[in-house]
Amino acid sequence: MQDRYDVIVVGGGPAGSMAAFNVAEGGASVCILEKDRDIGYPVRCGEAVGELGLKQFVDIQPQWIAASITDFRLVSPNGTKIDTRFAGQKGFILHRRIFDYDLCRKAASAGAHVFTKAYVNGLIFENNTVAGVKLNHLGTEKEIRSHLVIAADGVESRVGRWAGLRTNVKMKDMESCMQYSVANIDIDPNRIDFYVGSVYAPGGYLWVFPKGEKTANIGIGICGNQTDIFNAKKLLDEFLSREYPNAAILTSMCGGVPCASPLKNAVKDGLILVGDAAHQVNPMTGGGIISAMKGGSIGGRLAAESIISRDYSSSFLKKYNDFIKKDFGDTHQRFHKIKEVISSLTDIELDGIAENVQKIPESKRTLTQIFKACVIKKPSLMFDVIKVFAGV
Ligand SMILES: Cc1cc2nc3c(=O)[nH]c(=O)nc-3n(C[C@H](O)[C@H](O)[C@H](O)COP(=O)(O)OP(=O)(O)OC[C@H]3O[C@@H](n4cnc5c(N)ncnc54)[C@H](O)[C@@H]3O)c2cc1C
Repeated sequence: MQDRYDVIVVGGGPAGSMAAFNVAEGGASVCILEKDRDIGYPVRCGEAVGELGLKQFVDIQPQWIAASITDFRLVSPNGTKIDTRFAGQKGFILHRRIFDYDLCRKAASAGAHVFTKAYVNGLIFENNTVAGVKLNHLGTEKEIRSHLVIAADGVESRVGRWAGLRTNVKMKDMESCMQYSVANIDIDPNRIDFYVGSVYAPGGYLWVFPKGEKTANIGIGICGNQTDIFNAKKLLDEFLSREYPNAAILTSMCGGVPCASPLKNAVKDGLILVGDAAHQVNPMTGGGIISAMKGGSIGGRLAAESIISRDYSSSFLKKYNDFIKKDFGDTHQRFHKIKEVISSLTDIELDGIAENVQKIPESKRTLTQIFKACVIKKPSLMFDVIKVFAGV
């Protein structure tokens, strides 16, 4: 480990690896500091991604793919099932353990130095500018200096806060999640299932994502401000014993997903936040892998430019906020508002919508047709969605 790098990346998830890859490609020296023992493990994710999203950044490797997804099923509170086929594109359930590892290898191949069991516990400041990190590496306290720090430290991010950025997520925007990886269940290996409504997952959804022969990730995310009343684990256990009584639980995990709008300002002098640390998750779906890769790539490219220009100031780095806004920030902001509309629907409204959609023949279930069916059941939805797009 050197005493100094041009750029230090905190966190070895998709955002951190993509950031480091782009910094190294841009010709600057960079290291990744990851607190866990292994890159890619433990996995805290449902592991679902869209093929098109992934293709933007990497050549998809067969060893990453646990399942190819062509269909999805939505189940409303009274059990009405809507089956739809993805038009044109497919999705994947990844093996994130292998995927994250390979992304980090890609960064290393481009020249990034990677250190695991490297827990960053503070920032170094010089003239109010972030100038490096303090860390514990394999039991030894160290300091490393840099021109820039990229915080890719995920949902539990503290780096931004240490630098004085307001990174807290409102409880209503934090999905509290619990997931089991289970074996010995009968499922369609190419279909993902979502269960919605307060009986399954208040303010969120429950998912069944197939992961190969008779196995799946089965998880639940409930709205953070419902956790006083509902217990995610209890709801998930009830679901499992009802729907898959013979399931064997191989792994279990819990975690949070920040389903907020992206941070409007994710930079400080000498610092850029990327991925979950900058609230870049798609707030409607809770999917954050692709947007973390996007945020990491944009942040990494700008960091390399900043090293070349020898300008690490927030006035230079502010471009990052504009790039994010243009690339997906505005869209995520709209998704956030749509999420709020959807989560205000009652179980009865969700059932009514599901029954209307079910009447549309499967081959004609386009987004427009589904929207029309929703509006017939709840006309005020039309105004809510217009308001979202008008930015009111
Ligand atoms: C239950 C659950 C299910 C999900 N399902 C999906 C899904 O199906 N599809 C999808 O697209 N997204 C899903 N997500 C979201 C997705 O996992 C994240 O959005 C994505 O991993 C964000 O990538 P990241 O690189 O920003 O953060 P992370 O992948 O969380 O990586 C952050 C890294 O930083 C490290 N770190 C943290 N603090 C420090 C420190 N102080 N020092 C050093 N290292 C540190 C962590 O150990 C971690 O490795 C899910 C999340 C959860 C919790």
